Order: sequence, then C-alpha cells, then structure tokens
Amino acid sequence: MSSEAAEPVLRVIYRRLLDVYGPQHWWPAETRFEMMVGAVLTQSAAWSNVEKAIANLGAASKLSPSAIRETPSEDLAQLVYPSGYYNAKAKKLKALAAYLGERFDDDLDAMQAQPTPALRAELLGVHGIGDETADDILLYALGKPVFVIDEFTRRLLHRLGLAAEKGPYSTYQELFTRQMDEDAEVFAEYHALIVRHAKESCRKRPVCQGCVLLDLCPTGRRSAD
Ligand code: SF4
Repeated sequence: MSSEAAEPVLRVIYRRLLDVYGPQHWWPAETRFEMMVGAVLTQSAAWSNVEKAIANLGAASKLSPSAIRETPSEDLAQLVYPSGYYNAKAKKLKALAAYLGERFDDDLDAMQAQPTPALRAELLGVHGIGDETADDILLYALGKPVFVIDEFTRRLLHRLGLAAEKGPYSTYQELFTRQMDEDAEVFAEYHALIVRHAKESCRKRPVCQGCVLLDLCPTGRRSAD
C-alpha cells in the first residue's frame, strides 16, 4: 500500500472499493425520466419497494412526464403505494413533471444542456426535491459531475475520521470534489460502491474484520482493540 501514501485518501478508498466489489452498474433504469422518478421514490424507501412502484407505473404506461401530469393524484398515489409516503410522493412526481413541462417542454436534452449550478438551483426549487434527490437526478439521469451524499456516505466519512457525524450537505460533497477529478462516471460508480460497502461491511453495526478500509479507519481499529 506504500504507493498510496501520497494519494488523497478518497482516491485510495475509491480504488479499493472498486477492486473488491467491481462496477455496480448504477442507476438501474431504462430512461432518464425513469431515473428521475426513481430518485424521488427512493426517498425513505428500500430500493426493492421502489422497483415495485416503478413496475406499477410502467405497467400503467405512466413513465413519462406528460402521463404523470395527466394522471389524477389519487391514481398516481395508488401506483406508487409500494414505495411508501405515497400521497406525498405522488405530489412530488407531479411537481417534477410540471417543472419538466413548463421549463423544458419535456425535452431532457435541453435540460441536460443547462449549466450544472443553475440547474441544481432550479431543481432545489421544485417541491419535494432536496440536495440528495437533486444530485441523484443531475448525476445519474443527466450525467453531470456532482457527488451524491446520503446517510451511508456521511456515516462512512465519519467512521473514517474524515468528517463530523452531522454537518451541512455541502461540507461532505466538497471533500470529494477537492480530492477527486470532476468525472461523472467515477462519481456515479463511487456513490454506488459506498452504498454497496454500507450493505456488506460498514453497516449500522459495522463488520470491520476483513474490511478493505480497516487500516485507514480509526473506528475499525478501535473495534479491533
Ligand atoms: S473498518 Fe469498520 S467502520 Fe471502518 S469502514 Fe470498514 S466496516 Fe466501516
């Protein structure tokens, strides 16, 4: 590991996670709009339940902004029921579809052509879209180089001694943008790898023995003492 000594630690972590888990092939979706829908539905939901909701939408031919706009809220809520908070999520999907129609006439290429900071600010102004959802959309649906921060990322960074347990979203994000090149493919892979690592090892109660990051991690070393 001596060649890693001079390398920013978040690059080292990325390479090690990629070596051990391999590419994660995120985000599982057939279209950019389906990715956006998934980004909204995954709020406070297990992905397996999001998949059921998306399957319902697909079977009812509702996976387009215009179909979402035209569907009554109550019907939409029934379709997304498996993802939980279904009334709230139906309202959020309608807000997203309304934004796409009013702002871009549903042209996602036109949306993609916008500068990232302006687009991010606009997305944050849409009902139901916060930092994480906005960045999921920017990164996975539109290929913009932004790093997605979720609870797994905060927890990992904290355990590694790289960040406080709680803090503003942007402070976690800046760690990655300071140490990594702005590369959407790498950012997409890295976030997916962190989620994988949170499921495999760095769980709520971490399984540190055998963790590929153990020598970098004060939490892991303490648990081994
Ligand atoms: S050593 Fe433990 S706490 Fe540290 S990253 Fe690995 S699993 Fe998480």
